[in-house]
Amino acid sequence: MDTRKVIIIGSGPAGYTAGIYASRADLQPLLISGQEAGGQLMQTTEVENWPGEPDGVMGPDLMTKLETQARKFGTEIITDFVTEVDFSSRPFMVKMGEKELKAESIIVATGASAQWLRIKGEYELKGKGVSACATCDGFFFRDKKIVLVGGGDSALEEAIFLTKFASEVVVLVRRDELRASKAMQHRAMSNEKISFMWNSEAQEIVGTDKVKAVMILNNKTDEIVKVEADGFFVAIGHKPNTDIFKGQLEMDEKGYLKHLPDSTRTNIDGVFTAGDVSDPHFRQAITAAGSGCMAALEVERFLANI
Ligand code: NDP
Repeated sequence: MDTRKVIIIGSGPAGYTAGIYASRADLQPLLISGQEAGGQLMQTTEVENWPGEPDGVMGPDLMTKLETQARKFGTEIITDFVTEVDFSSRPFMVKMGEKELKAESIIVATGASAQWLRIKGEYELKGKGVSACATCDGFFFRDKKIVLVGGGDSALEEAIFLTKFASEVVVLVRRDELRASKAMQHRAMSNEKISFMWNSEAQEIVGTDKVKAVMILNNKTDEIVKVEADGFFVAIGHKPNTDIFKGQLEMDEKGYLKHLPDSTRTNIDGVFTAGDVSDPHFRQAITAAGSGCMAALEVERFLANI
């Protein structure tokens, strides 16, 4: 089995940027794209804060450009899903089911995935009115009423997007204030199709073959109301995709990978981390891309010294 100089796991802005830098450094990187190639930006509409795109860029278009740029310099990309890793000795082992690959260094850029509420009806009605992706499923809710949970930038961005189709979007916020930026709050609050229910928590989604209503608890008054709805969207943040690294790479209590200060180095020499998988603070496409660049530069230095 050939030993690669570097394997990049993940295909968001961090992974592709690492690919661009590593391939330009002649490290012939292999990038394993994961199940959802392109990462979270594939489920976004317009990205307005990517530098160099003053008119905004659609998330999937940005990812296609990054992928093309990575391939252009020689990044080999395979569409597969890593099921197991062995970082106990070098070369490191990466398994994809029965398939095994070896590498002298690894960049972990596996990103983060949407969180769910785990309430009654949520799992059962997924794809039948329950969704965590407005850009994927919003189209199905033309002239329908939607309940959406969350108070961050993602929730309001999704709520605004859903108003293109829905007749009404009710946003459930568990506190009496939003976490979202002031600019996003202003946009959502001035949209007449969006209303807010404060101190409100979804308790159950009612319906058998499709969403019919949502049982909502007011956590101040303990009152429970039934709100009829056709759709139920969840936008309450993300969980880092680190399950396969448990016991090998150091993580914080939420599962985000730890790295050395001012570095992408993990607790294992030769294993680096970039993007949302190790960033509980910024979680922006541009910061992910920046850390992908850092990881590739650190890999280059590491390989030169072994
Ligand atoms: P955030 O962590 O910022 O917000 C999560 C929201 O969901 C909070 O309002 C939180 O409530 C709420 N929440 C969490 N768990 C539950 C639960 N169990 N029940 C009900 N509500 C819950 O995540 P986002 O995904 O919104 O944003 C992540 C990062 O990405 C942020 O830094 C954000 O700024 C950025 N972002 C930027 C965008 C842009 O600039 N265009 C677009 C989208 C995201 P509480 O506040 O009470 O904790």
